[in-house]
Amino acid sequence: MSPPAVRCERLVHVYATVDEEVTALRSIDLEVAAGETIALLGPSGSGKSTLLWILAGLTRPTAGTVELSGRPLQGLTAKETTNLRLKDVGVVLQTPARNLLPYESAVGNVVFAQRPLRRSGRAKRERAGSLLDAVGLTSVAHRRAGSLSGGEQQRLAIATALANAPGVLLADEPTSQLDHNSAAQVLELLRHTNREFGTTIVTVTHDAAVGAAMDRTITIRDGRIGAEGRAGEEYLVVGRDGTIQLPEAFLGTLPPGSLATAHRTPDGIELRPARIDQP
Ligand code: ADP
Ligand code: MG
Repeated sequence: MSPPAVRCERLVHVYATVDEEVTALRSIDLEVAAGETIALLGPSGSGKSTLLWILAGLTRPTAGTVELSGRPLQGLTAKETTNLRLKDVGVVLQTPARNLLPYESAVGNVVFAQRPLRRSGRAKRERAGSLLDAVGLTSVAHRRAGSLSGGEQQRLAIATALANAPGVLLADEPTSQLDHNSAAQVLELLRHTNREFGTTIVTVTHDAAVGAAMDRTITIRDGRIGAEGRAGEEYLVVGRDGTIQLPEAFLGTLPPGSLATAHRTPDGIELRPARIDQP
């Protein structure tokens, strides 16, 4: 069996600024099988982008390990990490412009992304043309990337990330600036890429259509994995230390900070608010 495309264990990340520390990830365990597609969901500030940057080798975690296809990221040199991103791991960052060469044309960006491949210039331009077509950018192929709209840049970033048919695609909110039709086009390209090339996809998204199209959803709350969705069903995830996050709907019954007792029942466990008599 091939190793998982992505495996991380006990990932912790703390941003230290001059006057404060922000804990963005608090022990994340995650495995994504080769060829699997997952959506990372969760409120703003919950740690999704941090996780994606770490998986892409762009941020070094404060603690914990990341393996891509069985290879520990920590063991790679800076050059090897860059090579990995050039060939094997496509990355779409949350700010579309950050993925692109602004003075290069749209088609030039997708050609440039193929620089590690031994392919003729003509084959590279053909590949670029068909990717631009798939994301609906044929009419702006020769415009400078920097002059495109946010939505066009976002679609170009996806075409660029897929240029080398990477084994893994990491995408941060790839449809956030797109209208309904363009978003549907991008989603179709993701599905096609997964089916055709077996590309593993990890995408941060707030778009319900993208979430529903992935094999699994992982919801992150406050730097922890709070829930997992499969085939429309939402599950709690029991953490390494036994922690679970209660779904928000239950916080009325058991507000944060309240005490509860756990009871075995024939088919599971029941939580009851504790009734404590004040002395
Ligand atoms: P999400 O993508 O889910 O919105 P992020 O991973 O961007 O969340 O952020 C997680 C937390 O880390 C937030 O509290 C955010 O303010 C903080 N954070 C993100 N990037 C930095 C940074 N470069 N320096 C300091 N804090 C940061
Ligand atoms: Mg983010």
